[in-house]
Amino acid sequence: MSVREIVQIGHPVLRERARELAPDEIASQETQRLIDDLVETMRAAGGAGLAAPQVGVPLRIFVVEVRDNPRYPYKPAIPLRVLVNPVVRPLGDGTFPSYEGCLSVPNLRGLLDRHADVEVSYTDRDGAEVVERVTGLSAGTFQHELDHLDGILFVDRVTDPRTLTTWDEFRRRHEAAWLEQVRGQIARASVESRTT
Ligand code: ZN
Repeated sequence: MSVREIVQIGHPVLRERARELAPDEIASQETQRLIDDLVETMRAAGGAGLAAPQVGVPLRIFVVEVRDNPRYPYKPAIPLRVLVNPVVRPLGDGTFPSYEGCLSVPNLRGLLDRHADVEVSYTDRDGAEVVERVTGLSAGTFQHELDHLDGILFVDRVTDPRTLTTWDEFRRRHEAAWLEQVRGQIARASVESRTT
């Protein structure tokens, strides 16, 4: 396992549509190593998620994990997930204001709308098909990572560019009011397997 370099906004790989993996490709040593490296790189960088294009690989894979994260102290825990060929389907019309940052967009956060309730279908690293319901603030994390597979960065979705802020200014001036606004979405955040 190794920590890979995270590419930054302006690199064309972040603007490509990443391609799907075939089942035999998922099992390959190269893909398994990529997945290990994504997990290690995400943890080393203190991210809540990391998508393969962010390490320069245009494949439809992302990883998500939140455990006592100092970068996001308010984020509810998410057990480690490895998603290959994920599909995210909104459940209902509910949205919430999501203040997001990105390891590929240094020192910037901005406010955008995310679905509050989604169904996520994917293949895991062992080739099993998984369907999960993700709700509240955690749903935003999955939608942010999925966007990376489609060449979309959070800055593209920021509804009002005047909400853009550095991390310091976010903590100093915006965090408390925003946390108040999304308190309900923090409380209802969960990732649960769904039987269809
Ligand atoms: Zn990102």
